[in-house]
Amino acid sequence: MGKTSITNTLKNLRYHIKTYGCQMNFSDSERLSGLLESYGYKNTEDIKNASLVIFNTCSIKQKAEDKVLGSMKIVAKLKKDNPDLLIGITGCMTRVPSTKNSEDKDKLFKLLKDLDVCFPIKDLTKLPSLLKDIKPELAEFETQEADLNNYFKIQPKYKTSFQAYIPIMTGCDKFCTYCIVPYSRGREVSRPILDIINEAKKLVSEGCIELTLLGQNVNSYGLSWTDQKSGNFSYEENPFVQLLKAVDEIEGLQRLRFTSPHPQDMKHDVVDFIAESKTIMPCLHMPLQSGSDYILKKMNRNYNSQQFKESIEYIRKKIPGCSITTDMIVGFCGETDEYFQESKAFFREMCFDLAFISQYSTRKGTVAGMLKKDDVPKEVKSKRWHEMNDLLRETSFINNKKFKDKTVKVLVEKFSERSQKLHGRSEHFKEVVFKGPQDLIGKIVEVKIDNVLEWLLEGSLV
Ligand code: SF4
Repeated sequence: MGKTSITNTLKNLRYHIKTYGCQMNFSDSERLSGLLESYGYKNTEDIKNASLVIFNTCSIKQKAEDKVLGSMKIVAKLKKDNPDLLIGITGCMTRVPSTKNSEDKDKLFKLLKDLDVCFPIKDLTKLPSLLKDIKPELAEFETQEADLNNYFKIQPKYKTSFQAYIPIMTGCDKFCTYCIVPYSRGREVSRPILDIINEAKKLVSEGCIELTLLGQNVNSYGLSWTDQKSGNFSYEENPFVQLLKAVDEIEGLQRLRFTSPHPQDMKHDVVDFIAESKTIMPCLHMPLQSGSDYILKKMNRNYNSQQFKESIEYIRKKIPGCSITTDMIVGFCGETDEYFQESKAFFREMCFDLAFISQYSTRKGTVAGMLKKDDVPKEVKSKRWHEMNDLLRETSFINNKKFKDKTVKVLVEKFSERSQKLHGRSEHFKEVVFKGPQDLIGKIVEVKIDNVLEWLLEGSLV
């Protein structure tokens, strides 16, 4: 995107972004920052100094949406002190790129009277023209056609210099009955390999050592109907494997991760390549959601527990010691105590390293929200969440114990004021805490594990 000349007035513009939800949203916020800074805006961590506040929203669950609406109302009060403040909203809650002046407005304007601008993230390149619509003094902002290609061309402002997320696709074609993503982000569209490789090479040449490829279903990369029609992909080999091979070859890259794969698409060729790759880390996220076949069917997950188990067995055979993390939902519609016990037993059998456990809540606009009865009482969901979390404590501890007295390679991510120690991640994605100088942040160091806890490993620098 070409820069425009910026007047002195525009140089005083400050933005503040509040990001909710998954890594995709955090990655989108990096592109949003990149775009705003190319127009002269500067970031401010203090929301009170901002002239533009943008909420990058998550609507995967009704609760997440309520949280966003709640905090947006609080920020709207800032407008009373500063009537020039602009408030914007993007992400999964938005549908129609519009401003408060537009004739055809997003329905969010009805809910939030202080809202100025609203745009789905794929329409990010429309933001300058939307801002101009509200503030004509921003007339120097260049207008760009909004499409996904232009979106991906925006140079993101990465949060750290040594780690970066690269979106490789957007949207989802799976239609799990509890999930809003196929409606909020739309159908699956993948980025051409060359675009991704160029972004990855640039990052690595600037000193980035760990890349995470992002998408709702990374391992169906290039396979959607839209992708097949686009002519951007070749199919003599699984496109995701082609992509992994190309990134793995980048000189200087030390760690490669990806999230999230879908269990249905975790084919042997993907696992085979991971096993022989130089940079892909031995930790795979395999979202199970439920260990009960009855519930998996109701969720439209397209696999059963036996198929899931076979995938995990293949991964563990080809990549010995590989960590497996997962997502679980408790209290989905129709989950009796018997189905929940089945789910727990399967979770125990899979012995997951880590899990993101959530309590089901009805989400308007989803198939489950429309057709299924949210029939598990709140207190039962909460009890099941605690039971599943206790089980995770056990399985996580079992896996962590394997690292006692071993030396692991850790990418140092931060210094914690609270613990007065460095924190980082091992190759197996274990959080490792140890004493050391802060100039190790961004480097990979060897740490001997002296003590093993349920959620983390404590060690000392070798
Ligand atoms: S795979 Fe299912 S849960 Fe994941 S984004 Fe797609 S519809 Fe949602």
